[in-house]
Amino acid sequence: MSELTELYQETILEHNKNPRNFREIEDPDKTALGNNPLCGDALQVYVKMEGDKVGDVAFKGSGCAISKASASMMTQAVKGKTRDEADKLFNEFHRMVTGELDIETEENDLGRLKAFSGVLEFPARVKCASLSWHTLNAALHGEDEITTE
Ligand code: ZN
Repeated sequence: MSELTELYQETILEHNKNPRNFREIEDPDKTALGNNPLCGDALQVYVKMEGDKVGDVAFKGSGCAISKASASMMTQAVKGKTRDEADKLFNEFHRMVTGELDIETEENDLGRLKAFSGVLEFPARVKCASLSWHTLNAALHGEDEITTE
């Protein structure tokens, strides 16, 4: 295992153990439920807007370590971003975990989210890693619920 992979694994384990923004937001502007029946992950994502920006974002629910860690890091990554910026990050994340974006050669704003680049090797885990992002995307675009297929 490479040093980088080990570092990434530690990041994911740490966020699973101590997830950030793991709470409900009372009176959210936007919220959606995301289901990943293949693994049994179910997350509710809450968003409070500040003008055009994501003022506060949080999640609750249950899921595997990867889905929970990904939701935790997603909330950190999109807080303070505009909806367009969040959409762009979702797109980059999705392309990374499906192998369409090469994080080594293509310019991107993924930063610490690169910790999830390893799921590419585990197709069943791609949905776990991207669930919170699909759910955020649904919430930001006015959908109540999504199910990964
Ligand atoms: Zn999962």
